[in-house]
Amino acid sequence: MSEHSDDDGGETCQRCGEKDYDRRTLWMACFYQMNEMREVPYGQVAIRGKVCEPDGVERFEDFLGSGRAREFPKWRVPDDAKESDRIFYTLRVCKECRADWMRAIASWFAASRQDEATGTGAYIREQGGIREMTEAEIAQRFPKGGEVRVRKFKSR
Ligand SMILES: [Zn+2]
Repeated sequence: MSEHSDDDGGETCQRCGEKDYDRRTLWMACFYQMNEMREVPYGQVAIRGKVCEPDGVERFEDFLGSGRAREFPKWRVPDDAKESDRIFYTLRVCKECRADWMRAIASWFAASRQDEATGTGAYIREQGGIREMTEAEIAQRFPKGGEVRVRKFKSR
């Protein structure tokens, strides 16, 4: 994916549709096929290499002549690091949509987990997690009624 895919006004934000030049790529990887979320038009990219570890910071007292100090992380390749492919799901977005994405992560992290028991005993695997369905969800999913088979999953 190029940063400027169109010659006439920049690149379209995949989320809000704004067309401009200042786009960012959100890189996401969580060992799950995120493209199962069909409402999100992820791209994919893979990087082949070794996973590095943080190894302090490098400090520039006058970064690019700005008069301001700036620190950048330094990385070290562990001796036993093996080369492998890392697959990422990507979105090209504008800075405002990136800000919304970062706020969404902050909200998710601050919120408590949603492990509400509904008492139905019917569980569903959803986006890699398991949760108990509500009566309304069961009725919607199995509109003809009848017996619903319940399969127990090992708890995490
Ligand atoms: Zn946007």
